Amino acid sequence: MLGRLARWLRLLGYDAAYARDADDYELLRRARAEARILLTRDRRLAARRGLQAVLILSERLEEQVRQVQHTLGPPPGPPLSRCPACNTPLIAATRAAVRERVPPYVWRRQTDFRLCPACHRAYWPGTHVQRIQATLAPLSGEGET
Ligand SMILES: [Zn+2]
Repeated sequence: MLGRLARWLRLLGYDAAYARDADDYELLRRARAEARILLTRDRRLAARRGLQAVLILSERLEEQVRQVQHTLGPPPGPPLSRCPACNTPLIAATRAAVRERVPPYVWRRQTDFRLCPACHRAYWPGTHVQRIQATLAPLSGEGET
């Protein structure tokens, strides 16, 4: 249910695991085993004892991100430090290493590439950074001075 939120939190630098098909039991077990804070829209689940949980209130992505930032504080890592698809920390990659993995026009123009060592997706600052800034600028409530 919160898959989009998980992707955005990763882009921001949060360590956000996402369990697509897990049932409640598996979610609770994993949250406890990995000492994670469970983000859920399920009121019953959020109220379980012995669990750190945040009940996500809004259905709108921007408000969900804002609630997480407000509740948990700033992310532990910089933006674009985790793979938005699978949450693995990204590694710096040479242009040669990503040649087969990015569109030719991107490969010609970009020099700063990162690679996910788990799912092998390649990332570059252009579009992702712009999307983050466009979406989150109105959220932060503080202008550049
Ligand atoms: Zn990945």
